[in-house]
Amino acid sequence: MKLTGNLLIGAQEVSGTAGRMMALNPVMNVEIEPLFTFGGIEQVDRAVQLADDAFESYNRTSLAVRAALLERIADGLDAITPELARRASLETGLPVAQLEGEAAKSAIQFRQFASVVRQGRFRQATIDPSQPARQPRARMDHRMQKIALGPIAIFGASNFPISYSVAGGDTASALAAGCPVILKAHNGHPGASELMGRVIQQAVSDSGLHEGVFSLLRGAGNEIGEALVDHPLIKGVTFTGSEGGGMALFRRAQRRPDPIPVFTEMTSVNPTFVLPAALAARGAAIGDGFTERMLVTVGQACLKPAILLAVDGPGYLELKNAMMLRVDEMQARTMLTPGINMAYRKNLERQNNAGAVQIAAGGEPHGEWDGQSVLFEVDGACLLDKPTLSEEVFGPAALLVRVEDVEQLIAIARRFRGQLSATMQIDTVDYALAERLLPVLERRTGRIVVNAFAHPQEVSYASIHGGPFPATSDSRFTSVGMSAIERFLRPVCYQGFPDELLPEALQHNNPLGIWRLTDGELSKA
Ligand code: NAP
Repeated sequence: MKLTGNLLIGAQEVSGTAGRMMALNPVMNVEIEPLFTFGGIEQVDRAVQLADDAFESYNRTSLAVRAALLERIADGLDAITPELARRASLETGLPVAQLEGEAAKSAIQFRQFASVVRQGRFRQATIDPSQPARQPRARMDHRMQKIALGPIAIFGASNFPISYSVAGGDTASALAAGCPVILKAHNGHPGASELMGRVIQQAVSDSGLHEGVFSLLRGAGNEIGEALVDHPLIKGVTFTGSEGGGMALFRRAQRRPDPIPVFTEMTSVNPTFVLPAALAARGAAIGDGFTERMLVTVGQACLKPAILLAVDGPGYLELKNAMMLRVDEMQARTMLTPGINMAYRKNLERQNNAGAVQIAAGGEPHGEWDGQSVLFEVDGACLLDKPTLSEEVFGPAALLVRVEDVEQLIAIARRFRGQLSATMQIDTVDYALAERLLPVLERRTGRIVVNAFAHPQEVSYASIHGGPFPATSDSRFTSVGMSAIERFLRPVCYQGFPDELLPEALQHNNPLGIWRLTDGELSKA
């Protein structure tokens, strides 16, 4: 597929008028063809207007048509996977095999959401039939279903350039809900973004849908993102990236005359708590497994386990040595973008200045944007004293915390801000302590893992990739998994409607054959 560097606005290719850029190959530190143009306010307005024009018809498409769109996108991703993975690798320095895995995961997500759409449960069809004889007052017929919010602005993430980007879970779940999507591509991988954008644009056209169902924009600086969030026809926003960026956009959306929901995923250190019996029994294995997981994708993963806490005692030295060995052996590798690399170096300094002691370091950087792996150690009292030590260092660095006793372990757990995940390494003897820790962790995380290491996110019905602030801006929702669709839906109640005017999901004979809650009971009747 030929890259043109144009914006994709509905069915059109548009050369942006607000500047241009070339992609960077961060491994070689050279720019790569072609020139990509930036959009401005005019292009934002055109894309959003088209999305609004598309909304009513797209939101009312049959479940079969919408599911077919998602499957076409999945097929399109499958067809370009080798090319997409090669381009994404050139632009990010991530290995081709890893990116092929991401493309496969993306295609699977679109197919899974097609199945969610066909099942129709996302409508949450709920029927309270009329009760004309009810005393003291008759009840009118009330029926509720969920409909789509409207046009959604999605900010593609930098760190998973396929599965959290243009063809990522946000796009899949918003399209599944019935929302047109305007995608603000991340400038870290413009070519990969264009390839995925073309697949979606083609699938919209092949499905005979309104062209405004999907547009892909690119911009310099904050202007285009701000214009999207401000646009009165945008009805929701998703974002994955820094806490500063996410909160700037969140606050902006709340200042609108009509505030809209903004679902940001920002920062998490995914703490691992190693309880005493587990530490004594298998300290070295835990240290090795944690560090291996921490180093995956050069430490640039939202679920990277970044902080390990263990009570000093039997097994601690073995754990520490295993962690140091892994880090010592690791070569420096290219980070995603110069900006992320510079932020990483600054954050290493922040840890040093806050009293963390560097106890291991991997190979020296050779390339301009290489990140050197680093392991810090600190004692529990210092961590309690210096809260900045518990903040994210996005990159291949981890902090080992030597905790004095179990009371200090619980006190530290209480100090963590909201997290995407937390892990407990436990043996049966640790269960009593685990029961004390559990309610503390439940309040602070969206996922609790036992005896495993934070793992590339499983995309399934029970998946939760969310958590209290600052992990996300809205802990009630997930950005990964089948319930991610709920971010883009809102309830509408239809009172006293004749059957002919009711949406199909709510009609008397249940023409869609979906599960519905009728008078409080689930049935397909
Ligand atoms: P970012 O700087 O927050 O940018 C993400 C996207 O949002 C980009 O498209 C950016 O546009 C846009 N944006 C950011 N701030 C904005 C604002 N105030 N107004 C309008 N648009 C705005 O994130 P990043 O480039 O991916 O990485 C930077 C840092 O984010 C990393 O070093 C890391 O600390 C953190 N991060 C964390 C995670 C995680 O999962 N925990 C994932 C990725 C990144 P422009 O590029 O055009 O400015």
